[in-house]
Amino acid sequence: VPIADETPLRVSVIGTGYLGATHAAAVAEMGFTVIGVDHDPAKIAALERGEVPFHEPGLPELIRTHVQTGRLSFTTDLAAAVAASDVHFICVGTPQQASSHAADLSFVEGATRAVAEALTHDGLIVGKSTVPVGTAARLREMVDAAAPAHLHVELDWNPEFLREGYAVEDTLRPDRVVIGGASPWAEEQLRRLYGPAIAAGAPVVTCDLPTAELVKVSANAFLATKISFINAIAEMCEKTGADVTTLADAIGYDARIGRRFLNAGLGFGGGCLPKDIRALTHRASELGALQVAGLMQQVDEINMSQRQRVVELAMEACPVNILNARVAVLGAAFKPDTDDVRDSPALNVAAALHLRGALVSVYDPEASATARRSFPTLSYAATLEAAVTGADLVLVLTEWPEIVGADPVTLGRLVAHRAVVDGRRCLPAAAWRDAGWRVRTLGSAASE
Ligand code: NAD
Repeated sequence: VPIADETPLRVSVIGTGYLGATHAAAVAEMGFTVIGVDHDPAKIAALERGEVPFHEPGLPELIRTHVQTGRLSFTTDLAAAVAASDVHFICVGTPQQASSHAADLSFVEGATRAVAEALTHDGLIVGKSTVPVGTAARLREMVDAAAPAHLHVELDWNPEFLREGYAVEDTLRPDRVVIGGASPWAEEQLRRLYGPAIAAGAPVVTCDLPTAELVKVSANAFLATKISFINAIAEMCEKTGADVTTLADAIGYDARIGRRFLNAGLGFGGGCLPKDIRALTHRASELGALQVAGLMQQVDEINMSQRQRVVELAMEACPVNILNARVAVLGAAFKPDTDDVRDSPALNVAAALHLRGALVSVYDPEASATARRSFPTLSYAATLEAAVTGADLVLVLTEWPEIVGADPVTLGRLVAHRAVVDGRRCLPAAAWRDAGWRVRTLGSAASE
């Protein structure tokens, strides 16, 4: 047994993005000493000051608390962090490759190799990033070759299921803890680490490496499938006058189905679901699992077609020629409560209308800065009112409470034309119609 049971666990977390920064803060909250490592010096400098370079409710407070308790520190010096720790979590990104749908594993490979080479004593490397099935086994071989031969080193997989916007809560109180590939010793260390969550009732699923990798990917694939399923049904509703929201409520009462992730609309985006289902499609094709590949391809196609459908609705609903029309886009983040605009449906639609010659003004309560970095050619308004002033058409593309709750009477006085397209089926349409707006709702027949 390399680490005596009574030894206080010291933890390093490699990669301090959405996943790693939250994980590091949560592990400190659970009582352990944590060093967060990132190769981006600006990110580390911000985190050291207790500033989180992205919007995540509750996270800045938690980080500041534990920088002060001394349990949490940050560095760009991976070797020093590894030398001072026993358990090393790999939390770096696995984005989609630029030229294919496969996952780019260069960050995970680079970080894992760097940890293995920097080891000065026995240790446990734990992958948390989302990876295609088969990756962990390859990394294990790499670690065996790269780590100093006299050390006992183990690599396991412990996928993460946090939701952006609820990351702190999800990390401290996970629905389950999946531990893949662990020896009894390693499982014991991870059970100690997640002790408070396990004591609070989180089930522990122990399994082999491929199962752990596939659990994460399958969870995201299932959620994506639910969203694309309801969007496919919404197409039927749009053609027949049926109401997809009532339908989702009704089928959602069935406990086997459940109501969540059945909101028809612009579909999913962000840094996880789109790239994860594409990586699954790619990996399934490689393995000859053609049913999975076909299913995921269809889920992706339905999802992407929703963006095109909103562009078409906007063209139909625009009371003036789209060329030079003033279009207010409300929402830029891929969902509320985050400033993440990776693969954001809202920004895709905004950019498509900009390309058609519309004068697009984007408003988002939190994501304007990140949106501006990704789409610098769009213009960004500081307030919702500024975005809609003089607008010929208003598009609601992210269901932030501020946007859903905006007063249609007040906004009606600011716009040039009272025309709105609700891409998230989130507006109280009757109140908007009462205020003189023509409302088009994605997934509802035009006459509604
Ligand atoms: P991110 O891009 O926000 O963060 C990754 C961080 O890793 C960056 O700060 C980057 O600078 C750093 N990094 C990359 N290579 C490094 C290296 N060699 N050494 C040190 N730092 C390095 O990504 P994220 O959203 O946190 O996602 C990370 C992983 O977690 C992905 O596999 C993702 O699929 C998975 N995941 C994300 C979420 C989520 O909601 N964001 C949820 C569950 C799982």
